[in-house]
Amino acid sequence: MSKIIYKSPEEIELIRESALLVSKTLAEVAKVIGPGITTLSLDQLAYEFIKDHGATPAFLNYGGFPNSLCISPNDQVVHGFPNDYVIKEGDLISVDCGVIKNDFFGDSAFTFSIGEVDEEKQKLVKVTQECLQLGIEKAVVGMRIGDIAFAVQEHAERNGFGVVRELVGHGVGVKLHEKPEVPNYGKRGSGIKLEEGMVLAIEPMINAGTAAVKFWNDGWTVTTRDNKPSAHFEHTVAVKKGKADILSTFSLIEEVLDKKK
Ligand code: MG
Ligand code: MG
Repeated sequence: MSKIIYKSPEEIELIRESALLVSKTLAEVAKVIGPGITTLSLDQLAYEFIKDHGATPAFLNYGGFPNSLCISPNDQVVHGFPNDYVIKEGDLISVDCGVIKNDFFGDSAFTFSIGEVDEEKQKLVKVTQECLQLGIEKAVVGMRIGDIAFAVQEHAERNGFGVVRELVGHGVGVKLHEKPEVPNYGKRGSGIKLEEGMVLAIEPMINAGTAAVKFWNDGWTVTTRDNKPSAHFEHTVAVKKGKADILSTFSLIEEVLDKKK
């Protein structure tokens, strides 16, 4: 069993650099994502951008994954392959990105609403982003993993949404996936205690309908069992006393999206 890898303040700054490069990559995606373009073209853009910034896409060749981004439209929950799918008005497109720079990993995901999306999708995106924020608020010294999990689950279910059980957040930094697991469901006050030096990828995956998912026999793609939409937001977060330190950011993405309006 691998152990939790605690990071020094210097190492956390290197993880921040990687996480910010992920955020910048997602902001580049934000510039061009829209109706008529393929998800594969976004992947190529991300690959070039990450390479141009002296880093390596963390997902490329991870367990045999063939791309730099995971792109998961609509009923795909996570781990979708970029391909010749043409994005259309009304889609929800989850884009997950990771990079390695200076031997440290950053990991973040954002779900894009393409043009006018229906009310169910609008609410799903809003609530999933709120779930992430509520989870992050618990990523402070003295809380437990279960406090993050409970905060996410309670908000999602109060809004009538399903919380994916089979996929979870994780420690991150020295490796892409480290201990501990960070589930999006659980009991308040349960699990390991959060301590200074822990860096977590908190990533609610929330379904508009049932929590149940299907794993495709391509080995990667995960969709909702009822084919209703799913949303996914993720930040790389350092546990701190009093207030979590969010190492990735959505503000770069949001600036781009505001300008496009
Ligand atoms: Mg991710
Ligand atoms: Mg992750």
